[in-house]
Amino acid sequence: MESSQKPVDNDVYDITIIGAGPAGLFGAFYAGIRNMKTKIIDARSEPGGQLSVLYPDMFIYDIPGYPRLLAKELVKHLVEQASQFKPKMVMNEKVIGLTRQDSLMRLETDNAVHISKSVVICIGAGAISINKLDIPSANRLEGRGVHYHVEHEGDFRGKRVIIVGGGDTAVSWALTLKDWASKVTLIHRSGTFRAKESSLIELFHSNVEVKIPCELREVAGENSVQAVKVFNNKTSEEETIPADTVLIGIGVTADLSPVANWGLPFENNMIKINGLMETGVQGIFAAGDIAVQTGTTKLNLIATGFAQATIAVNRAKNYVDPKSQVFPGHSSEKRF
Ligand SMILES: Cc1cc2nc3c(=O)[nH]c(=O)nc-3n(C[C@H](O)[C@H](O)[C@H](O)COP(=O)(O)OP(=O)(O)OC[C@H]3O[C@@H](n4cnc5c(N)ncnc54)[C@H](O)[C@@H]3O)c2cc1C
Repeated sequence: MESSQKPVDNDVYDITIIGAGPAGLFGAFYAGIRNMKTKIIDARSEPGGQLSVLYPDMFIYDIPGYPRLLAKELVKHLVEQASQFKPKMVMNEKVIGLTRQDSLMRLETDNAVHISKSVVICIGAGAISINKLDIPSANRLEGRGVHYHVEHEGDFRGKRVIIVGGGDTAVSWALTLKDWASKVTLIHRSGTFRAKESSLIELFHSNVEVKIPCELREVAGENSVQAVKVFNNKTSEEETIPADTVLIGIGVTADLSPVANWGLPFENNMIKINGLMETGVQGIFAAGDIAVQTGTTKLNLIATGFAQATIAVNRAKNYVDPKSQVFPGHSSEKRF
């Protein structure tokens, strides 16, 4: 859609946070505490960033105060924490343009134009999309037995599950679902795996059948999955395996390309910021994985993103309302 044809949301927000990963969600909470009219825009349909797409069922051990916490649980808590202040959540929109017009920011997404007094960029690794298999029969049966993520392990109870992939995601699905499914078969096109060694040891000692170097060639079935055709890259033999479900975990692609045109100091896929989380363009701040602060150690961790988002949002508050303090006060002393 041409920029001029896109609907413009003329409702001006105090702060717009691009990215609903952990940094963006925590930033939205702080913006709420600061009474800022807050919008979050994310390219994906659900919040959580890398945690939701890449490792929802893995435990995280380095969130302060939580000895261990499932990634999806952390996302749930972050959404709940931010939602107390009812930020406007705009999902399924990728920000492709960001320009300053007089004192306001104009954010152009693939669907619309948004206006804000300040912006905090928390786009992490970029707009993440799940890699799809280029097999017509798999595409036709997507959602009807062919899946790209696991929502509830219980959905696989008693089923014959085919998992495609050789990374941490595919292997961790296999190890989880072996306790639910009647049979799990893992197909990987290469003889070497990208998954971590400890998981592979567990995999090869489990009852998961591993077929390597094999490729999924076809998913058979009219309205549901009945079987898969698997081609062995070494022997060139094809076999048909009866199946109820196919789970595909062949990685993701992260798109950071829009940022290059935003006129920000962007280098090595990161936005350079100073100690105030400023990008060099007035009113535009950055935090989390996307941001690199000169003179400090870059740690792509949730905890560092939380700290940077806290600073960025409180600086944005002071930018939008120069009479306000940067220090937000103690949350323990507030009522909300
Ligand atoms: C397998 C794995 C395990 C990990 N384990 C840990 C761990 O145990 N502890 C830890 O601290 N860290 C861990 N990490 C790292 C951690 O996930 C990241 O540091 C964290 O997700 C970064 O948060 P973020 O909010 O900066 O970005 P992200 O989580 O990347 O979120 C960015 C969001 O921005 C959106 N976005 C991007 N571009 C656009 C755009 N143009 N328009 C709109 N939206 C956009 C994306 O859709 C995404 O939702 C792990 C990472 C991986 C891959």
